[in-house]
Amino acid sequence: MTTPTAPQAPAASPTALRALLPWTSFWAVMGVSFGAAAWATGGEPLSAGVASAMTVANTFLVAIVEQLLPRKAHANLLRDRQSLNDIGHGVLFTFVGRPLAAAVGIAFVAFVSQRFEGLSALWPVGLPLLAQLALALLLLDLANYGFHRALHRVPRLWWFHAVHHDTRQMHLLKSGRLHIGEQVLQFLVVATPLLLLGCPTEVMLWLGLWTVFEGNLAHSNLDQRFPAWLHYVMPNVHLHYVHHAEDPELHDANFGGLPLWDLVFGTFRHPDRNPVEATGLPGDPVPPGFLAQVWFPFRAQRQPPDVSRGAAEAAR
Ligand SMILES: [Zn+2]
Ligand SMILES: [Zn+2]
Repeated sequence: MTTPTAPQAPAASPTALRALLPWTSFWAVMGVSFGAAAWATGGEPLSAGVASAMTVANTFLVAIVEQLLPRKAHANLLRDRQSLNDIGHGVLFTFVGRPLAAAVGIAFVAFVSQRFEGLSALWPVGLPLLAQLALALLLLDLANYGFHRALHRVPRLWWFHAVHHDTRQMHLLKSGRLHIGEQVLQFLVVATPLLLLGCPTEVMLWLGLWTVFEGNLAHSNLDQRFPAWLHYVMPNVHLHYVHHAEDPELHDANFGGLPLWDLVFGTFRHPDRNPVEATGLPGDPVPPGFLAQVWFPFRAQRQPPDVSRGAAEAAR
């Protein structure tokens, strides 16, 4: 005699699950990364050591998930001949640029703070940590927006930033592919105003984590999907992909981390209405070798490459 069995709900097909994953990938990576960072603090204020460890952990996590759920078939950090150079630029900044920038920045902040004693008392330390973080993020992003626009507008600065835009493939490692000169300048221009205002170390460290996590995802080849309205609110890979477009009309847009400042200053381009055919730079003016790339912006000051945005700027 057979026992009757309860009717079973149809199992979700693998295809349906695969289609759902891109809609959750951004939130899953962010949730795991910030959850791990909060857990690692053990209820204490976030320390520089924990922040560094979480930066490394997030980088490995994104490296793994972009292999499992790729966005573009042609992009892969394991097959990109520039991947070692991308890592080299990150290492050069970590071990040379950042200590240099921190020393100069701290000396500058100490010098200014001595002369304008009330400046460092301006920061609202009495606000909850999340409110301080939101304020710091808005200010940091505004400074970053202005700095990034200047990098695109001023040919002498553009040569440094061109190394970052020299990207035929977009993947995780492009997040750290920044010329050491640009990174040092960015640290001084973008971080020191917050330090001058007295922004606490813990807020700066959480902000640094957000910047790294968001930057890694925005450059990664991880398939990420969002509803169309979210592009007006959240930084994401689609907005930044438009910024990396080979077409100069598109790459002079979406400068900010947050879309807010691009909306305010009229440089916002919605990814659904601005399809990107290719990323990189017309004419590939940046040399392929690592040392040549480090030297490139200095050489270009005296002798701009023939086929380049800088030459086009000069001709306008
Ligand atoms: Zn740019
Ligand atoms: Zn970028």
